Amino acid sequence: MPTTTRQWLLNGHPRGRGIEIENDFKLVTTELGDPAPGEMLLKLHYLGFDPAQKGWMENIADYVAPMAIGDVMRGSGIAEVVASNGGRFAVGDMLFGTTGWTEYLVTDGKELTKVETEISPTAVLSVLGTTGLTAYCGLFKVGKPVAGDTVLVSGAAGATGSIVGQLAKIAGCRVVGIAGGQDKCDWLVREAGYDAAIDYKADNVKAQIKEHCPRGVDVIYDNVGGKILNDMLACIATNARVVICGGISRYETGSLPAGPENYFNLVFRRGTMAGFIVLDWASEFPGIRKRLEGFVKDGSLKYQEDIQHGFENAPQTLQRLFAGLNRGKQMLKL
Ligand code: NAP
Repeated sequence: MPTTTRQWLLNGHPRGRGIEIENDFKLVTTELGDPAPGEMLLKLHYLGFDPAQKGWMENIADYVAPMAIGDVMRGSGIAEVVASNGGRFAVGDMLFGTTGWTEYLVTDGKELTKVETEISPTAVLSVLGTTGLTAYCGLFKVGKPVAGDTVLVSGAAGATGSIVGQLAKIAGCRVVGIAGGQDKCDWLVREAGYDAAIDYKADNVKAQIKEHCPRGVDVIYDNVGGKILNDMLACIATNARVVICGGISRYETGSLPAGPENYFNLVFRRGTMAGFIVLDWASEFPGIRKRLEGFVKDGSLKYQEDIQHGFENAPQTLQRLFAGLNRGKQMLKL
């Protein structure tokens, strides 16, 4: 049994700038205690990455506990029970949840869940994890699409966005996505079933939305904010629902942006705009996971996982999200 573990600690609060690997993280080797009665020793196999982790490092949000310098970097993972001192899970069980960036972990496992899925085990961090749950809850509970609606998704080729579009197709909607680069846009239409895709790096976004959504947009699902949200708001239909899931275009800037110029369209079009935190529906997660798994099994929901390798590459792997390098859910295999 190992007596030490490598861990990535928080070493800086990256407010108003991008992540600086050399300054914001510290790789250390820490002693591992023996599991006390009721505890287990876990070995991490995968880490999952989320843009929100940068906000946690900054302490910008109050929906999670603040992070202090020297804390083990917070994050999701999949881990195997390798030893147990009467713990709640058996040796050999695979668990998922908030493990942090560590190779080994001694825990009572109260916050962890056993991996029980008929699809790939890594799906508990992607389509069946926070990503799929966020897509489902944001779209259906906040966006409330009905068949025939036009749904417009920003960050559409990302882990969350690509699932949102497919769920909206399952609900009978017409779906248009906005993503960075022609290859991502081609993937959206060819593989993810989007009806059309707009390359925000090359196209005039507002003109393209008007072309692809001639009767206006009924549901906006925004992962990006900034100018793209502004262009989307310019094109809403009467009674539109605008779902604010994320705003990655400002995650590396120092201040929250002024309200979007086109917000007054919400008045002209009698629209609503609402943000959400997926954790608010935690009691419903088991049932929603089953639904999502059913869609994957019947072939109506595809998902992509981008798996990097090596524990030492955890900070670089997080950075990929902000450079748009990830293809689907960003993960790291240890
Ligand atoms: P993701 O979409 O797989 O990855 C991030 C993507 O954002 C990148 O691939 C990149 O795609 C795009 N991006 C990066 N910088 C950008 C910029 N300046 N302008 C426009 N696009 C940019 O990540 P995810 O995990 O699925 O998260 C998507 C969003 O959901 C994030 O905003 C996240 O904070 C949010 N979220 C919210 C909740 C909630 O409860 N509200 C829960 C989970 C996640 P391109 O190549 O297309 O630029």
